[in-house]
Amino acid sequence: MPGTGRVAMIQAFANTPGASPGADQLGTQEEAAAWLRTAGLLPAEARLSNSEHAALLRLRESMRDVLAAHTAGREDVSAAARLTRALADGRLVLTVDPASAVQLASAARASYPNLVAVVAIAVAGSAASGAWLRFKSCSAANCGQAFYDDSGSAAARHCSAHAGD
Ligand SMILES: [Zn+2]
Repeated sequence: MPGTGRVAMIQAFANTPGASPGADQLGTQEEAAAWLRTAGLLPAEARLSNSEHAALLRLRESMRDVLAAHTAGREDVSAAARLTRALADGRLVLTVDPASAVQLASAARASYPNLVAVVAIAVAGSAASGAWLRFKSCSAANCGQAFYDDSGSAAARHCSAHAGD
């Protein structure tokens, strides 16, 4: 079930702006840190700096733009480049253990790069399973909710609330 686990985490992150102005769950540094802690992405004692908060919002906006491109079935050069840049903060490396098991991990120790790495690894995992391109944002007016398209045709453009539009 691709709607669970990592994809669900990306979906929840993409949906943090909320339905109305002022409902943004990442609106301030404190709100963002609280949301990230609840999501298990930030240690209890960790804080977000101003620049990390700004980078987090850029990560989210580029992610949402890429999801909108998935919905529209078009390529968005700018969104792809911005998401690539935002995910670079995760400093992903491939580790090989003595039993030769390989794993994506972050080369960074600080909490912000580590949480970006978790998002980047989730994106990579969803791409490997074929789920990434089915991960979209609703094209209904004033919606934009991130959703997982589990339709047979993979051509859905709306979240479940707007499925009849
Ligand atoms: Zn919708």
